Amino acid sequence: MIKNQFSKQAPDEGALPRYDLGPGGRTPRLALVANLHGNELNGMFVLARLAAFLKSIESGEQDGLRLRERVVIIPTMHDANLPIAAIPRRERSGVMERRHHNPGRTMLETVATLTRTAYYRVDLHSTAPEIEEMPQVRLYAPSDDERASACLFGLPAVIERPAIDDAASGLVRAWRAHGGENFVIHAGQAGNLQTGHCETLFRALAAFLDRTGIVSGLRPVDDDEDLRYFGLQQVMTVAAEQSGLFASGLEVGCWVRTGEVLGQIYDSLTGGIQAEVVAPVAGLLASLRRQPLLQPGDLVARLLTPAAAVQRRSARLGERHGRWASRRA
Ligand SMILES: [Zn+2]
Repeated sequence: MIKNQFSKQAPDEGALPRYDLGPGGRTPRLALVANLHGNELNGMFVLARLAAFLKSIESGEQDGLRLRERVVIIPTMHDANLPIAAIPRRERSGVMERRHHNPGRTMLETVATLTRTAYYRVDLHSTAPEIEEMPQVRLYAPSDDERASACLFGLPAVIERPAIDDAASGLVRAWRAHGGENFVIHAGQAGNLQTGHCETLFRALAAFLDRTGIVSGLRPVDDDEDLRYFGLQQVMTVAAEQSGLFASGLEVGCWVRTGEVLGQIYDSLTGGIQAEVVAPVAGLLASLRRQPLLQPGDLVARLLTPAAAVQRRSARLGERHGRWASRRA
């Protein structure tokens, strides 16, 4: 059913599933893409659902809702009929963040071409199968407009990196050359479908569509969002000092105190606890290792420290922009 809604592509655009929704004949306001790396199922699932939702608005099935701007959605950058095993290993391994961002060049160029005219561009990304990430927005050397808009998703953290570094996806690099506003949203664990994270992501995208005026008539729940903005110096990584089996009962997105146990390292032969990994600082648990086999130096967790974080409690677009502007002034 949904498959029939995919746009017909020119031959050079390959077999990419693509939705082109909203008023035609104008430049897209928003482009949403997911699953550049073939195993980012949370993003793919959410975009497929969002496309179906926007399609139902377009066809008048959602009372009072209107799609006012053109939106392009590419839920997966791999042929949906292609089994994961057929994707070159280089593209799906994702053992390390750096190695993970290495999709085929042609794919990048195709997706960049399909999305370059959109003003807002969002890549939904999951870093690696080993690490679970709380839904969060990543910005790379952002403009003030990008900083302000990043808050419109209402996700619990926006993390700003000072440069387009190795952690940035090739897509972000390609987009940057075309201006506009570019965002990467990390959520969950590659290779997994995590419905809790998917719900959060869907709500975040709906909030963005509402607050940017792309969809009118939405009445998102006006929770008192607890939104924080973090610079790279506030990201504390916790690395393993020894090998073993790591396990944690914590959920990403929770706050931990200094010295709180993040998880245990078990001896793989005896099953006994060799060590406990504790939080070196208090902070928001943004990333947590889910692949238990641990080697010294492996990433165990990322904590976002509130030290200099600017806490922003606000629910309305005007307030957000207003407050941001006054603080930047
Ligand atoms: Zn990705």
